[in-house]
Amino acid sequence: MKVLKFGGTSVASHQSISAVIRNLLSQSSSGPVIAVVSALGGVTDLLQQAGEQAVNQDQSYKTTLAQIRERHLEVVHEFDLSKQDEKDITAILDLLDLIVLGLFAIGEFSVMSRDKVLSFGEWMSSIIISKALAKQSSNSQWADSRELIVTDEQFTCAGLLIDETKIRVREYFKKNQAAITIMPGFISRSRSGYITTLGRGGSDYTAAIVAASLEAEELQIWTDVSGMYTAHPKWVKQAFPIEELSYQEAMELSHFGAKVIYPPTVQPALQKQIPIRVKNTFAPEDQGTLISAKVNNDRGIIKGISHLPDIALITLEGNGMVGIPGFSKRLFETLSLNKINVVMITQASSEHSICVGIQREECERARQVIDGEFAYEISLEKINPILVEVDLCIVAVIGDNIKGHQGVSGKMFSALGQNNVNIRAIAQGASERNISAVIDSRDVKKAVNTLHNSFFEKQVNRLNLFIKGVGNVGGILLEQIRQQRDHLLNELLVDVRVCGISNSRTMVFSETGIDLDNWQEELASGETQEFDSWMNRIIEMNLRNSVFLDVTASEEVAMSYSNYLRKSIAVVACNKIACSSAYHNYRELKSLAREYHAPFLFETNVGAGLPVINTLKNLINSGDRIRSIQAVLSGSLNFIFNHLDATNSFHDIVLQAQQEGYTEPDPRIDLSGVDVMRKILILIRESGVPMELEDIGNESFLPNAVDQAGSVDEFFALLQKEDAFFTERFVDAQKKGCKLKYVAEFTDGKAKVGLKEIREGHPFYNLEGKDNIVLFYTDRYSEQPLIIKGAGAGSEVTASGLFGDVISLAKN
Ligand code: ADP
Ligand code: ASP
Ligand code: MG
Repeated sequence: MKVLKFGGTSVASHQSISAVIRNLLSQSSSGPVIAVVSALGGVTDLLQQAGEQAVNQDQSYKTTLAQIRERHLEVVHEFDLSKQDEKDITAILDLLDLIVLGLFAIGEFSVMSRDKVLSFGEWMSSIIISKALAKQSSNSQWADSRELIVTDEQFTCAGLLIDETKIRVREYFKKNQAAITIMPGFISRSRSGYITTLGRGGSDYTAAIVAASLEAEELQIWTDVSGMYTAHPKWVKQAFPIEELSYQEAMELSHFGAKVIYPPTVQPALQKQIPIRVKNTFAPEDQGTLISAKVNNDRGIIKGISHLPDIALITLEGNGMVGIPGFSKRLFETLSLNKINVVMITQASSEHSICVGIQREECERARQVIDGEFAYEISLEKINPILVEVDLCIVAVIGDNIKGHQGVSGKMFSALGQNNVNIRAIAQGASERNISAVIDSRDVKKAVNTLHNSFFEKQVNRLNLFIKGVGNVGGILLEQIRQQRDHLLNELLVDVRVCGISNSRTMVFSETGIDLDNWQEELASGETQEFDSWMNRIIEMNLRNSVFLDVTASEEVAMSYSNYLRKSIAVVACNKIACSSAYHNYRELKSLAREYHAPFLFETNVGAGLPVINTLKNLINSGDRIRSIQAVLSGSLNFIFNHLDATNSFHDIVLQAQQEGYTEPDPRIDLSGVDVMRKILILIRESGVPMELEDIGNESFLPNAVDQAGSVDEFFALLQKEDAFFTERFVDAQKKGCKLKYVAEFTDGKAKVGLKEIREGHPFYNLEGKDNIVLFYTDRYSEQPLIIKGAGAGSEVTASGLFGDVISLAKN
């Protein structure tokens, strides 16, 4: 004997019911089967809705009833049932109409009437299915659960009277034998004859009760997913069916929100050691989940992750509680007497407070009854009125063997912490099958995905990028990501997804990643971008391992990094403004990055893609000390002075550099040395020396008149007049066997930038094109410096520097 339960979606339509019937016919060939069925998918909700509308004097209850009628008659017609069958169903539907009309007339929808109304769903579906089955099997019957399952009168979630139920079920099936029996799930009756229900989702429980009463060989739960998953499959895309679970694990998972099995279902099966299989009506060939006494640890310690929404935390707190027995007893007694279910308990050993998790809907009642119970102590200020916090939920990791393994809670909480999920309360049951944390509801999706990733997908690191500024460098970066994505995924197990792109006009977002073959079109038709809306959307999306990339030169953007870091969003910038702004700002960003576990990376601030900052970091972290830095850090100035000779006009070279994009649009930013000052400042700060931009000496090489130019045009006009000045500087240097280089220096705590004559033989002498060079003199590199040299400007190398920073964020 097997007991099979078919949920609402499995019996929602003619098509799915046909699949159910095929399944029953096939399974009954090897022994009798009992099929417990739910209401047609969605009907229980419609019944509830009709009742509520009626009691609220809302005439639309009639439309709802008509909808219910239509759903059922449609299936009757599709199965081509007889006129008599149709009449039988219509009579039940008429009775339902009458009852709901009654509710409307007397304005009452008590829990007792609610059970009566809701019971129609399973009643009708089971009759229709049994009549449809009868057309194909002469050896089938319908059994009325209302006559077999006996309960108390706790309406809407009745308590089972197990002994009477067992006797009735056994007697019924002794007298009435058939190859296939169809029974309604969910519905039952009290001793005094009132209709009751076993709670929403309770058809699973009906099936388990019947299976246990008859000591069936197997209980099968047929639903719309292929088993019990490692996490809610609608919330966690990467969740997968668990092959095997122990009864206890299944119980914990369902108690903590895995709706696929109604929590009380497991207990009766466990008592009789009946294996439970969870199977998919729409993919019967899938293996599904087997729940049994066997514990299988092949697939790791943690079997699944669950979450329970709509939780409230109540905290009883006060100095008067410490060391005095009886407070907890009174608290829990009060909750129990008022039928308030306790979901979770935590108490620190200081005994100063007790914290209890309950259902959100019960929190106001809890407040009243607890404050009432402790009114005297509250009046004496021994304890405080209870504190109620809402908008919370519980996330839990579950597995039989958590007990025997250290590090599970460490892993759980560090994963949550790294993704900025704030934990409000923690509980680990003594059975140690479950570690639970109460968190804000808005973090739940991120939390379950984070936990799933760290316990089940630890091999793949996903990075969710938000890129602001997709001009030249940003565009090339996107192309580099597009080309490398598969390689990164396959070789490094790093999944880089671009989830947001913005230029100065528009922005686009996609949680699953923007199509990088098509981003220009998507961005062109994207939403209008505004400074705050861009940032708020990223924060709202609240994706784990989010990375904000600043590929702009905007001061406003640079000043917003702290907002990202505070949300544990990593920041990668090629924009130099933040790191060269006031020292306290730079320090704050660094300490926020540490505090919120959100790296702040800016390798491209100096020397584009050259590994200057990372090298410096490694020197410092390994205990070296920077004594001096000598560097040529401006690709544009290097280009200009490399082209200057006795015949070329300085004005023409600058103009060419500007036109070819080697300088900023306003070349004065380069020629004034400010850009180089910023770069050397960043290196100095990264060496551990606090310094401000103003502390850096800068003697302009421009003639005074040119330095004073009011506009770019005026600057060029003035520059043209000064060609002789520059030719002279060149010739002077040449006579001494020197070349002109724009150099940044830091020695003995002092820094300066300026144009210098460099002798042959010096490492700067042969520097070509747009190359940069940095010489680090340190305690360890004291005689010969550590030299980093190469192209220090250009879109390709800058983009690849940014990309390098991004990849380094993947935690392996
Ligand atoms: P039925 O109508 O068959 O009783 P339910 O809706 O009650 O189906 O339960 C199945 C649903 O449970 C799935 O569609 C899925 O969305 C949800 N669910 C939540 N958590 C889990 C989980 N851990 N594994 C499988 N399904 C889950
Ligand atoms: N039909 C009921 C509900 O929707 C019971 C069940 O399907 O398990 O809650
Ligand atoms: Mg269900």
